[in-house]
Amino acid sequence: MRVLTVIGNRPQFVKAAAVSGPLRAQAQEVLVHTGQHYDDELSQIFFDELGLPRPEHRLNLGGGSNSEQTSRMLAAVADLLEAEQPDALLVYGDTNSTLAGALAAAQASVPVAHVEAGMRSFDRRMPEELNRVLTDHASSLLLCPSESAARQLRNEHVHGKVEVCGDVMVDVAQLIAPRARARTDVVAGHAGSSGDYLLVTAHRAGNVDDPHRLQGLVELLLALPRPLVFPLHPRTRARLERANLLTRLSSADGIRLAAPLGYVEFTALLHHARAVVTDSGGVQKEAYLASIPCVTLRDTTEWRETVDTGWNALVDLDLEKALSALDQPVPDAHPEVYGDGRAGERVVQALLRMAG
Ligand code: UDP
Repeated sequence: MRVLTVIGNRPQFVKAAAVSGPLRAQAQEVLVHTGQHYDDELSQIFFDELGLPRPEHRLNLGGGSNSEQTSRMLAAVADLLEAEQPDALLVYGDTNSTLAGALAAAQASVPVAHVEAGMRSFDRRMPEELNRVLTDHASSLLLCPSESAARQLRNEHVHGKVEVCGDVMVDVAQLIAPRARARTDVVAGHAGSSGDYLLVTAHRAGNVDDPHRLQGLVELLLALPRPLVFPLHPRTRARLERANLLTRLSSADGIRLAAPLGYVEFTALLHHARAVVTDSGGVQKEAYLASIPCVTLRDTTEWRETVDTGWNALVDLDLEKALSALDQPVPDAHPEVYGDGRAGERVVQALLRMAG
């Protein structure tokens, strides 16, 4: 079996790291990097740290609006499908690379397998939500991280076959956790001697592209308890600079801004944090997996189980809600809602069954 895998941004490199190895042991994989994330700190370091194979095709299609980017990727993947003649196309998550890959393959009658199928925030203002829904409905094989995702897809009467594999990020998180936890040097470097810090990430378009929301985000962060460690996504740094807000954060006592971190360093900071404050999908889930309380700077989430179990609170940009969430005791129960860390192998088996 020959599989064309299309990935393009940071969380997809993490997800693909769980599948590429087992896939290459049993099938042929042609890896395509669309270049949606191209900086070394958002791309190359993940290939190095997570042992991802070197992409067979590297496109440089980052930048531009969502529609421009998706259309350039659509055309490029269509050409690659023609040249590579794969039996299936594999995509992950909810980015422009995901949708472009899925649509190009569906148009070419190549079966699409979607990892992380069935996730919904039910917020159509998010570009990611549109990408998720459209990709699921173009897919032949829908590989779900949880039972609730599979239920959602059945309710939507998707065309393809639905299977629950567990979440591939769990595989990677479990593998890296011991190495990350041991990196107390990273904690000392970013957070000083105290381990009692908040780890912050924020880069959703809904929070950083709108100047009014961006101002609200900065006010919120300035009012949170410190120390606070904030590795800045390049998009967020650029928006803060443009709005003259970067120095307000960088000059505040106890707020430590950093460049985007590699996966191991970031995971080290996550494991030793008092709590995580984020608008990232992946980071909400990784906080859950590490049993670290999470405060989410959105009013919806596709990772519902993290909220239902009491480990995550959706506060949007409301300071009172954020402070109250940070005061809550840590829940006693921590169920295994996203699988057992062997999702990558199940994804490969499902692909082979589809081909067989
Ligand atoms: N991450 C990282 N370094 C950072 C911030 C995040 O390695 O400085 C990792 C994080 O552990 C997770 C992924 O990047 O695996 C999440 O990516 P992001 O927040 O960009 O995307 P989302 O999950 O929101 O789509």
